[in-house]
Amino acid sequence: MKIGCPKEIKPQEFRVGITPNAATEAVAHGHEVLIETGAGTGAGFDDAAYLAAGATILQTAAEIFAAADMIVKVKEPQPGERKMLREGQLLFTYLHLAPDPEQTRDLLASGCTAIAYETVTDARGGLPLLAPMSEVAGRLAPQSGSWALQKANGGSGVLMGGVPGVRPANVAIIGGGVVGTAAARVAVGMGANVTVLDRSIPRLSYLDDVFMGRLTTQYSDAAALEELIARMDMVIGAVLIPGAAAPQLIRRDQLALMQPGSVLVDVAIDQGGCFETSKATTHADPIYEVDGIIHYCVANMPGAVARTSTIALGNATMPFMLALADKGWKQACLDDPNLLNGLNVHAGQLTYAAVGKALGIDV
Ligand code: NAD
Repeated sequence: MKIGCPKEIKPQEFRVGITPNAATEAVAHGHEVLIETGAGTGAGFDDAAYLAAGATILQTAAEIFAAADMIVKVKEPQPGERKMLREGQLLFTYLHLAPDPEQTRDLLASGCTAIAYETVTDARGGLPLLAPMSEVAGRLAPQSGSWALQKANGGSGVLMGGVPGVRPANVAIIGGGVVGTAAARVAVGMGANVTVLDRSIPRLSYLDDVFMGRLTTQYSDAAALEELIARMDMVIGAVLIPGAAAPQLIRRDQLALMQPGSVLVDVAIDQGGCFETSKATTHADPIYEVDGIIHYCVANMPGAVARTSTIALGNATMPFMLALADKGWKQACLDDPNLLNGLNVHAGQLTYAAVGKALGIDV
């Protein structure tokens, strides 16, 4: 199969769909890998690395789209890219179609077959192609929050780990899933005093077990949160209710309970955010202040560490990409119901129920 990887064109996107390591594997499986020149530059992979892997470098996205049987990307295809998709072509990337009727319409019109990273599942009901990015965002959250706590950024000037004789920062993490656990790991490592809140008792038990007393777990309800935030230097929002907008857990009037210069990091901003005062920001301008509280609400946090994120995503997508290339999408999906769960669009038909429901289209 000819596998094509264009350069990402969404603003501020530095990741790339295929790493040189994944290209090496695909070539070893007998496939031809076509990479647009410069596609890997933002993630630290130059054309020479792909050539060494046995890939072919093409000069334009148009050449990639024209030649490839399967397009492997990171972000959803942009309008110009969607025009280049054709009937029978396979697209393997993040799509997030539910809030995006225009993209859905274009993909249906193209006649392509589109498998979305975000709906591929694993045997435990997890989302293996979303999890690596949650791991990245979670680990970044205390790092970004501690930067925001610095005076020059409007923060209260509290050091995460404190020093001998001075208390460390108090950090609350709301949601103890993939993001929350990764955030807890880094915040604990930085020496902060960490509390994780969740509504899942099994999740709190797990965290209590693995962190062995190095953090506090607390059931997440409105009263507990209100009592807690008054003592926190940083609150990290990491909740997810699958298929729904994030619940708003801290109201604007509650910001007055917090010390001025305290920080809210809303990782759940890509689902609408879990604080009333959250609005999406970018890496170019990541923080803003409301009522004395610094907000960090970057919607694509993994983009800040494009190299780590690209490798983590590539590790997770590679086995699926190889199965699709080796067997063709039909047989690969017949053999693996988890991959079949990724199928969102085929030959002008929407094939994913939740997206159809969100957009009012028959599936
Ligand atoms: P997850 O499903 O692994 O974990 C979510 C956790 O939230 C679960 O343990 C759940 O029990 C808990 N939860 C639900 N409602 C709660 C409540 N009211 N109080 C406390 N806990 C509650 O999800 P995840 O992979 O950790 O993702 C978390 C969020 O981070 C999602 O919104 C995801 O889209 C987002 N995310 C954002 C970025 C970014 O760049 N901003 C990157 C990756 C993930």
